[in-house]
Amino acid sequence: MNIPYLAFNVMHQSIRTEMIDAFTRFYDSNWYVLGDQVESFERRYSEYFSCNYTVGLSNGLDALRLALHALGVQEGDEVIVPANTYIATLLAVTFVGAKPVLVEPDPLTYNIDTARIAEAITSRTKVILPVHLYGQAADMEAILNVASNNNLVVVEDNAQAHGAKWSDKYTGSWGHINATSFYPSKNLGALGEAGAITTDNEALAKLVRKLRNYGSEVKYQNDILGFNMRLDECQAAFLNIKLDYLQKWTNERQVIASTYNKLLTGVGDLILPYTHLKASHVFHIFPVQTNYRSALQKHLTLDGIGTLIHYPVPPHLQKAYAFLNKLEGNYPITENLAKKVLSLPIWPGMTPEQIEHVVNSVKSFFNHAP
Ligand SMILES: *Cc1c(COP(=O)(O)O)cnc(C)c1O
Repeated sequence: MNIPYLAFNVMHQSIRTEMIDAFTRFYDSNWYVLGDQVESFERRYSEYFSCNYTVGLSNGLDALRLALHALGVQEGDEVIVPANTYIATLLAVTFVGAKPVLVEPDPLTYNIDTARIAEAITSRTKVILPVHLYGQAADMEAILNVASNNNLVVVEDNAQAHGAKWSDKYTGSWGHINATSFYPSKNLGALGEAGAITTDNEALAKLVRKLRNYGSEVKYQNDILGFNMRLDECQAAFLNIKLDYLQKWTNERQVIASTYNKLLTGVGDLILPYTHLKASHVFHIFPVQTNYRSALQKHLTLDGIGTLIHYPVPPHLQKAYAFLNKLEGNYPITENLAKKVLSLPIWPGMTPEQIEHVVNSVKSFFNHAP
């Protein structure tokens, strides 16, 4: 049995006719950039996630960058980010000229440890930028509290958590302005590059709308220095269809996760994902921890099972961030995770037999090995 880490084919087969019809309408529309599809996706996404405004953008990194830029974050400013995240979160901070200040994760939830945020705040701090890592909502109440006590703005990185909630409110609807990605492998994925910001603040939404389009609202009238960071009309057409399936696909991810959780409890030295009582988890990723990661990964590969590591090298130890002068040992919780996490396959359309094969393969590894 061959089980890739991620397969789109089952998901995409089920919506093939709708997607091809959408492409045909797009193809015949004679209008390819910033049209009806982007507009309707922005409206429907806002309604779905209970926020006033969505602005469709070119990708998640651009969305984070424009969110920070729109807030006026610039050189000399500091932005608090999780040490345990994908590097894009930090790159956005760097590209507006600000300094990423890293905070260790809570060892249970893997999300930013809210108790450690206060000690990272300085007179230069402008923004707290939490990530809902692996699909689990971070503690937005605690984060907004520490932000308001210190006059800081909150920007959520919601790239991994479409549809997750903290305390019954969707992630991406808590912060002042929030960014997300629709990279194909995200829970809501385009068929190429796409992203968005969400906000309840009309002025910020208007500003990002201008910034994505050369600083212009009226053609050939450029009020501010802008970028070309527009969401493609074609990707918006695909996203409009996939949005209708997000809940169904999220349910499937959660069923797979609860099966893994049930059947892998107590197996070997595995540490399974923990979900905070007030959080929901949409399982963008199903990470397990083990001291025998590379042997387990090899064993699963031999059994035809694809896995990935999220993430093998934390941002502060990447060559690109050598200038932060953070050494191995500076963020021990993050570094420990980087050595021990392994992501099992989790995608809508996995069959019970496939899930069982993964479980049995993991079990047989711990029965015979270390
Ligand atoms: C994917 C991702 C991004 C970047 O999104 P792109 O669309 O690939 O630029 C940012 N932050 C996190 C946490 C991500 O997982």
